[in-house]
Amino acid sequence: MARQPQFKRILLKLSGEALAGKLGYGIDPDIIRAIAIEIRGVVDLGVQIAIVIGGGNIFRGVAASSMGMDRASADYMGMLATVMNSLALQDALEKAGVITRVQSAIEMQEIAEPYIRRRAVRHLEKGRVVIFGAGTGNPFFTTDTAASLRAIEIGAEIILKATKVDGVYSADPVKDPAAVLYDKLGYDRVIESKLGVMDANAIVLCRDQRMPIRVFNVFDEGNLVRIVKGEAIGTLVS
Ligand code: UDP
Repeated sequence: MARQPQFKRILLKLSGEALAGKLGYGIDPDIIRAIAIEIRGVVDLGVQIAIVIGGGNIFRGVAASSMGMDRASADYMGMLATVMNSLALQDALEKAGVITRVQSAIEMQEIAEPYIRRRAVRHLEKGRVVIFGAGTGNPFFTTDTAASLRAIEIGAEIILKATKVDGVYSADPVKDPAAVLYDKLGYDRVIESKLGVMDANAIVLCRDQRMPIRVFNVFDEGNLVRIVKGEAIGTLVS
């Protein structure tokens, strides 16, 4: 029997790195097409979906500041990188037949709407996908924090954090074959043991507002739809 979706509104967090694929930099057209199709699967179920996208495949503020650049300026460049990714994902989604709006936390009206919470919710109610670009709009934050913030603001029921691995492990599964995959974790455990799910700011915000996070592998075809239908794939932080 086909299962019904378990959520009405979700927030998907995609890292910039996910878009780079094997290229390791920039945007891999095959990957972004595949991700767009996964997202369409969720839209077709009638589930409202908002997306926060990272920029690490193009530019990371911390990396540039460690090489001597002013941190705030470097972070603004990182935020611009997330806008590039947002436009690329919008293009891929629209080619897949999904109506999409990009809202930017830094005003750039020629290419994206400004972030307006009520307008974002209205788009979602009309079945449009909303991509939030430019992170929080503030330096010294990350797109993980932006994901937590936006999820709470728009009343999403869960954050689905897309990664390259199957969930949260006790150690890096690529380096340590003995690493175990957790199916559930508490917020405090994630913060204390520095498991690298999201940065501490993002987790604390989720903890205080009781926003669950599911960490999953976005490269397993159909995972996103299975999660939305209630399957316990990956790791749940709650
Ligand atoms: N960034 C920022 N404020 C934000 C979100 C992002 O300054 O609210 C900058 C920061 O420099 C970061 C870059 O944008 O390094 C890219 O975002 P992030 O590293 O979170 O991307 P991801 O790791 O998800 O690809």
